[in-house]
Amino acid sequence: MKILVTGTAGFIGYHLANRLLERGDEVIGVDNLNDYYDVSLKEARLAGLTSQPGFTEIREDISDRKVMETLFRDHKPERVVHLAAQAGVRYSLENPNAYVDANLVGFMNILEGCRHNDVEHLVYASSSSVYGANESMPFSVHDNVDHPLSLYAASKKANELMAHTYSHLYNLPTTGLRFFTVYGPWGRPDMAMFLFTRKILAGEPIDVFNHGHHKRDFTYIDDIVEGVVRTLDHIAEPNPDWSGQAPDPGTSKAPYRLYNIGSNNPVELSRFIEIIEERTGKKAQKNLLPMQPGDVPATYANVDDLIQDVGYKPQTSVEDGIARFVDWYRDFYKV
Ligand code: NAD
Repeated sequence: MKILVTGTAGFIGYHLANRLLERGDEVIGVDNLNDYYDVSLKEARLAGLTSQPGFTEIREDISDRKVMETLFRDHKPERVVHLAAQAGVRYSLENPNAYVDANLVGFMNILEGCRHNDVEHLVYASSSSVYGANESMPFSVHDNVDHPLSLYAASKKANELMAHTYSHLYNLPTTGLRFFTVYGPWGRPDMAMFLFTRKILAGEPIDVFNHGHHKRDFTYIDDIVEGVVRTLDHIAEPNPDWSGQAPDPGTSKAPYRLYNIGSNNPVELSRFIEIIEERTGKKAQKNLLPMQPGDVPATYANVDDLIQDVGYKPQTSVEDGIARFVDWYRDFYKV
């Protein structure tokens, strides 16, 4: 199968592309290698992909409409996994426009590309951040959440709404996946796992927000990739009543799906740090700080729908996952 994956120099995109290539798919990988974090890490991930047959690298910006029109027309992907985005909650407080360009304009270009080129299925990354301060635990996609606490969260919620419109109007099968704090080898330097490991190994103090009481449904990268691949292969039934025109809204059976993808096992940040200490053999110096604006106190994924529809089952404990990350980090950075 020919699959367009956006964000292939990124953490999740890199792992997903590897997995798709392994099973024999052709992968068209798009990324602009922005400098939100260390570009040399993105280059290293990409080098691992470009050396494999079946991978085509396209270094472009998804917010450029003309470029995206040409890309879809020239490559004609059968399916699309859209992961490129401006990520990060704290960064969105200082750089709001980056989120509009990549996450809204970019997403629009992906939807249009899918619509005009008969793409069979669009799977895209949403985020647990759309739940904001939702108090009903575990979080379910059936909870009514429309109070995002950051522009990042708002852009992800907007993606879900835009996808629904395209499924309804154009019968485009779309599946949104709300990822819950993903971690593992080749992870993101701006995220807690990476930052804590780097600083603990270097003997530097770490900032621990909400005094370490944050709870996160940390999800290991291999479990995420497994869930994405299963979802990609499971296409929502197109609306049988669709006749080339938008159906009556009252009878719409839009091929629109939305799932949580998490580990269903929230862990307190202080326990997370303890496991890193155990694996590195070093004690953390903690700067205990209050909550940051835009942050949420807890995340907890209800994954029943994903289990039922695609047989997804998270396999990796946080102890095993952290051990694999720390080992990768020490080997990659020679520390
Ligand atoms: P990442 O930042 O490592 O990867 C995103 C990639 O997209 C980067 O390589 C970046 O260069 C690229 N990109 C950004 N803007 C672009 C643009 N305009 N044009 C082309 N490429 C562009 O992030 P990730 O952790 O791999 O996340 C992948 C997706 O999953 C994102 O949509 C993110 O919002 C979502 N997500 C991630 C997590 C997590 O815990 N990692 C949690 C929830 C949601």
